[in-house]
Amino acid sequence: MCPAVRSGSFIFIIPPLGFIFLLSVSPTGCRPPDAAIFHVKTLLLWDIDGTLISSGGAGMQALHRALTGVFGIAGSLDDIEFSGRTDRWIIRRTLEKYSLPATPENFDRYLAGYLAALPAQLSNPHARVLPGVREILAEAAARPDCAQGLLTGNVARGAEVKLGFHGLWSFFPFGAFADDSELRNDLGPHALRRAHAHHGVEFPPERVWIIGDTPHDIACGKVIGARTLAVATGNHPVAELRALAPDAVLADLADPVAFWQIINSPARPPS
Ligand SMILES: [Mg+2]
Repeated sequence: MCPAVRSGSFIFIIPPLGFIFLLSVSPTGCRPPDAAIFHVKTLLLWDIDGTLISSGGAGMQALHRALTGVFGIAGSLDDIEFSGRTDRWIIRRTLEKYSLPATPENFDRYLAGYLAALPAQLSNPHARVLPGVREILAEAAARPDCAQGLLTGNVARGAEVKLGFHGLWSFFPFGAFADDSELRNDLGPHALRRAHAHHGVEFPPERVWIIGDTPHDIACGKVIGARTLAVATGNHPVAELRALAPDAVLADLADPVAFWQIINSPARPPS
């Protein structure tokens, strides 16, 4: 007999391995008859453009061609912010600029034109997977304690076309996209909900990383209390990103060891 031990469940969290041991103690003895081990997964939520790949301007070129092909307007998009914005946000600004009604029909027509033009634009000499990305995605996919998905301003079909072009789409079983919201800061909860649905695990904010190349990626990570890793492989240099106080900044992802040291680092206690 072991009278000091009462029946119930006891949870032990062992950092930094990230395992929870759920120990069920039976009312009849000291030995745990129903011990179960659950992996608590670190969740990586990836931006696409400027973080995983450089499309060599394919997105802007495809939107430009769609503007001409769908609406007959051969105008510039140079003064519209692309970096970190969602496709639907960009389309709304484009429609406004050219005094086109922002109707659902015009959104749909523009998106259809964009998606039709995108594949041909990806075949340009500047389109590439950024350094270190393939290695890191492959290692993340192989780690039993790690899950990964997308949190991107692309519409889902555009993300599939861009990443599929480089053979990266299969790394991402779920994601949050511009289809979910025009505003990037709205996308975090959609990504967390789909991660939960896919893995059957709730991901606590301190084990979620938002990885992206713009101030908007950092902001949307902070909205959901996630940790943020900024990478300066887009249009924003290290100093600009660091000034926004992400949890970590890297010049690029070329060193997978440096990347995993950040991801495996313990979370800072809340201030
Ligand atoms: Mg980006």
